[in-house]
Amino acid sequence: MQQNCPKCNYPITHPFGLMITDGECSGCVTHKEKDSIDWARKRESLSLELLKFKKKGQKYDCVVPVVGDAEDYFTLSKVLELGLSPLVVCVNDYFKNDIGWKNLHQLITYFDVDSFTFNPDIRVYKELVRTSLRKFDHIMLPFLQLHTSFPVHVAHERNIPLIIWGQNQSVEQVGKFSHNDVAQMSKWYRKEHDLFNVDTDKLIGNGAQVDLRHLNYYQYPNISALDRRGVKGLYLSNYYRWDPIAQNNSVVSFGFQPQSNNSSFDIYERAGSSVYYQLHDLLKYKRVGYRKVTDHVAREIRHGRLTTEIGHKLINHYTKSKVNIKPFFDWLDVSDSGYEWFKLHRLAGLDHLICESETNEKIDIGEPLKKFIGKGLDAQSNFVIFGKGI
Ligand SMILES: [Zn+2]
Repeated sequence: MQQNCPKCNYPITHPFGLMITDGECSGCVTHKEKDSIDWARKRESLSLELLKFKKKGQKYDCVVPVVGDAEDYFTLSKVLELGLSPLVVCVNDYFKNDIGWKNLHQLITYFDVDSFTFNPDIRVYKELVRTSLRKFDHIMLPFLQLHTSFPVHVAHERNIPLIIWGQNQSVEQVGKFSHNDVAQMSKWYRKEHDLFNVDTDKLIGNGAQVDLRHLNYYQYPNISALDRRGVKGLYLSNYYRWDPIAQNNSVVSFGFQPQSNNSSFDIYERAGSSVYYQLHDLLKYKRVGYRKVTDHVAREIRHGRLTTEIGHKLINHYTKSKVNIKPFFDWLDVSDSGYEWFKLHRLAGLDHLICESETNEKIDIGEPLKKFIGKGLDAQSNFVIFGKGI
């Protein structure tokens, strides 16, 4: 059986599920819809849909969950263009560097919106990260649980009828649904895609020293209560011709700061994280057999900015790039011997990808893509637990 899409090189091991038929994958097939859909009509249907949620006298029409990413700038600019009054909600993942905090605060001040940041109990959070690492080779699950449930709690508790997300990853990456299906956020969708089937119960199981009382916001709110209030979650990528690198490049004019990293040519996605292109990327490689750059290459081949050949070169180059993972273990209060144990037993065979000091080696990405990739900044300080962004 074919293991990779001959066009975009995506592997069938993708956790969302990828099918390859007649020389292309489900992601490539769904991508082609972007050129046949009448996007102006899609937007008309969105405007009509939104009328149901705009009510006189209500302070906020929607919750917009953010991390301070470039995509959040784009999403928020569209939400405001649509005439909505948003409440911006951020969950602190405790992994931001100085660039991440600056980007979050610039987002809020540039668009002049009401917002708040939820800082989960850090002892509970660290215990969950530790458990998630031990059981699932994943350090982002506790954050993903919060990021995909806390804003829904906020909407429910404050009687805000709508949650607006940016891209629907399962459509954009593997083409699991057609754009025309207009898939919405749901408890099932969250567990299946955002959490890779690991919800809070499974994460804790036995072993984590955490009291269930502390985990309310990690769990999706009660479905029937949500239904009674009529809370809905929409993805903007079902209504706009989604093109992350072009969109992300455009928001630099709003003050977003890109960050260069060692593991990909993409300087926008998750800029401002101390772990995303470091340990998180290495663990992704261990779990699914490919690194983040493979996602970026597939996307750019489909958008016509990379050839399959250059894409291969980029994957080969960045899949071998070394990352510094020690700062994460320091953040988690793991001793030096614990760190060495982890490398020896849990990252066996990956030690050639671990270094103590990263060197950012770029290779040629070709002209069409170069236009969208400027210079990324370097972080000055990692793991800034609370940031003022000034
Ligand atoms: Zn493909």
